[in-house]
Amino acid sequence: MAKSPVLAPRSEDFPRWYQELVNKAELAENGPVRGTMVIRPYGYALWERMQQGLDARIKDAGAQNAYFPLLIPQSYMTREAEHVEGFSPELAVVTHGGGKELEEPAVVRPTSETVINASFARWVQSYRDLPLLINQWANVVRWEMRPRLFLRTSEFLWQEGHTAHATYEEARDYAARIHRDVYTDFMVNVLAIDVVPGRKTPRERFAGALNTLTLEAMTGDGKALQMGTSHELGQNFARAFGTRYLSREGNREFVWQTSWGSTTRMVGALVMAHGDDDGLRLPPRLAPVQAAVVAVKGDEPVLAKVREVADLLRAAGVRVQVDDRVDTPFGRRAVDWELKGVPVRVDIGPRDLEAAPEHGGTATLVRRIQGSKEPVRVDVLPGLLPGLLEEDQATLLRQSGELRARRTSQVRTIGEAADVAAAGGWARIPWAAVGSEGEDELAARSATVRCLVAEDGSVPESDDAPGTMALVARAY
Ligand code: AMP
Repeated sequence: MAKSPVLAPRSEDFPRWYQELVNKAELAENGPVRGTMVIRPYGYALWERMQQGLDARIKDAGAQNAYFPLLIPQSYMTREAEHVEGFSPELAVVTHGGGKELEEPAVVRPTSETVINASFARWVQSYRDLPLLINQWANVVRWEMRPRLFLRTSEFLWQEGHTAHATYEEARDYAARIHRDVYTDFMVNVLAIDVVPGRKTPRERFAGALNTLTLEAMTGDGKALQMGTSHELGQNFARAFGTRYLSREGNREFVWQTSWGSTTRMVGALVMAHGDDDGLRLPPRLAPVQAAVVAVKGDEPVLAKVREVADLLRAAGVRVQVDDRVDTPFGRRAVDWELKGVPVRVDIGPRDLEAAPEHGGTATLVRRIQGSKEPVRVDVLPGLLPGLLEEDQATLLRQSGELRARRTSQVRTIGEAADVAAAGGWARIPWAAVGSEGEDELAARSATVRCLVAEDGSVPESDDAPGTMALVARAY
């Protein structure tokens, strides 16, 4: 019997499919103020897993967590000219507090370069204080005109790293290290998204940066999504805030800085990269629940078996959730687990207890990513599952790479690039054939240069390195 669809067909109306999935999988809903978002427990569990994976990598890169204020004096924002120009349209400003007009309005942080530099200017005295490597987990506000749950909200959650170094080279290398060892590693090996690491064009750079490194993911409809960014800030903020150090040689020098961020957008990226007509498909290394052990029907022996199997799987290192909601029809619960993208379901019913009793009974193993369903012996499950989960992890990454390869075309002209982007794909075009005028033409057709890559796929050292290719797409 064919299942009746739970979601709008993904191939026909991708944005609607996305919205329905986010809603029905209970990830998030709109908040009362336009552009804000309520993250529901299951969506937040995904974010927590992302936080854990990124936080460990950030600490491996030597940074420490700290916390800076949400409210920033408005005058701080204006100290760096490009920064204020870039962020002004998106700022939320607090003018009143305690019933009185404030002497100086406070900006709700859209990012924290300014307020953090005010502290760095005090913390950094000599070369011995460098490098200074700080990360913050926080919420920020950017007044977005075209909000979409997770992908672009007016308030979002993120980590923002801010560092100060003695030399340009050290700062450049640290920005590249975060881009590679924190972001690329996490997105490829945990999120199973075959992201393209690259360099932003001058036009697409962060406001106030010398250079921005990015990671671009392809969505199921062939668009692009910027997954995270790592900026070389040069000395711009150091000059604006007087962040200086006494060098070994006894000179007062401005520090060289980086900043880097990744956000709750990654939750939306998971949906858009891996989701299918039945819902989300979660990479097992990220999944808060890797296996749902489900009581098909409810009498006590079945429930006891379900608990026993769950314990066995937990002992094998699998993240497990028991589903004993037997008052809810099994079919409805099965649909719910599919929507939520849990990689594996282990269904146990009364008949399973009688079969193969010498092997602890049987169960039905349902694999979300393979789409398979087969009977298994309970005693082999704990040995079997970890390997299957790793296989599923690899499958998702492979499919993500295949999608990108299938939907990327090599082109020679800007017109062709815009056509490819409009049809739902990425175009690779020599950067020399685009340039900043070409970027205007692309913008007029709703496409952008997502990033610059070297011919061999590495990140170009400069904007004008010979052989540099531009990846052109429409973006979320
Ligand atoms: P930025 O500080 O501008 O470099 O932003 C850091 C990262 O935040 C970007 O690479 C995006 O992936 C993400 N991002 C930017 N704006 C939003 C938003 N409105 N909602 C969610 N994520 C965002």
